[in-house]
Amino acid sequence: MKASFLLTLTVTSGYSFSGAFGNTLQIAGFSVNGIVPIWVSNDGTTLVFTVTFPMTAAPHVHTLVKTDAVAATCTTAGNYAYWTCSSCGKFYSDASGETEIYDGDWVITALGHNLVKTDAVAATCTTEGNSAYWTCSNCGKFYSDANGETEITDLDWIIPMLGHDWKTEWSNNETGHWHECSVCHDKKDEAPHDEGIWVTTLQPTATTTGTKELRCTVCGYVLETATIPATGGGTEIIYIVTAESSTWDGTGDYIITIQGTNKANFKDLKINGAALTEGVNYTAADGSVIITIKEAYLKTLATGSHNIVVEFKDGGHAYAAFEIENGKTTPDGFPIWAIALIAVAGLGVVGAGIWFVLRKKKTA
Ligand SMILES: [Zn+2]
Ligand SMILES: [Zn+2]
Ligand SMILES: [Zn+2]
Ligand SMILES: [Zn+2]
Repeated sequence: MKASFLLTLTVTSGYSFSGAFGNTLQIAGFSVNGIVPIWVSNDGTTLVFTVTFPMTAAPHVHTLVKTDAVAATCTTAGNYAYWTCSSCGKFYSDASGETEIYDGDWVITALGHNLVKTDAVAATCTTEGNSAYWTCSNCGKFYSDANGETEITDLDWIIPMLGHDWKTEWSNNETGHWHECSVCHDKKDEAPHDEGIWVTTLQPTATTTGTKELRCTVCGYVLETATIPATGGGTEIIYIVTAESSTWDGTGDYIITIQGTNKANFKDLKINGAALTEGVNYTAADGSVIITIKEAYLKTLATGSHNIVVEFKDGGHAYAAFEIENGKTTPDGFPIWAIALIAVAGLGVVGAGIWFVLRKKKTA
């Protein structure tokens, strides 16, 4: 590359250059920085030279623009700080543009997760559990897989506690009973057995002994067993009757319990010789046998004495009688209880019964 400039020499007004100057004449001994100018024109008063000499480029001054450093994360690349010259497009690792670097030299690769496994723990009746999960010690995030592909949020791994699964049936041993958890075998409702009731397990006959068990009324645990003597020739089996109360206040059902037998042996219930309808007039349930005479039926009974006979499939009976005061009368004024007494007489009641007095309130 070359640069040039014009050099113009002009004589003082009124003068001219003396001597002849040819069109190609060069001025011997004249130079600019060692370069000999070339004479271009001469009009007698003005000499014009062209001075041409090699030119070297001016040193480049960078215009550097900084790119800030960005930290790498587990999953994204970062970069170191670097500078880009906006005029020459080169990259530098320093603000003064002294150390050139190349595209990508500033990249910091992603760190990758550093996953630490937390083992699964099964939930129990009383403690929560967790599924296995992985925690990254770099970024603190949680993952459900060892490769850190599926991110989960805090506590996603919790498995709720199961809660106890209490059995409905009683568990027991010689000292007491309880409800047991079928999973962890914890106990609740633990209590000693009650006094129990005797339940006939094998009816005696005229010639063979029977058996009976004293069972906890709550759980059925057999507290004691005993034999029942043979009944001998033709003797009737009589079951003992008890009641919660000897007083009936005129409202609500009335309950009697026949001891020493069970519902499977129950046959039917008669009052004043007439069979009642199970499920309508009364219910019969195990324990030993619990007869619940319904209020609606009781209110139909008249003033006077009433006779209860419970028949059992083994041929046994339970007998009881009760008296109602202020009961109904028949339309013609003939007391129902008189009819009832006749019926009772016809039954030829034998054996021990317990007598009740049911005080029926007179209803208007
Ligand atoms: Zn530059
Ligand atoms: Zn991470
Ligand atoms: Zn449990
Ligand atoms: Zn018990």
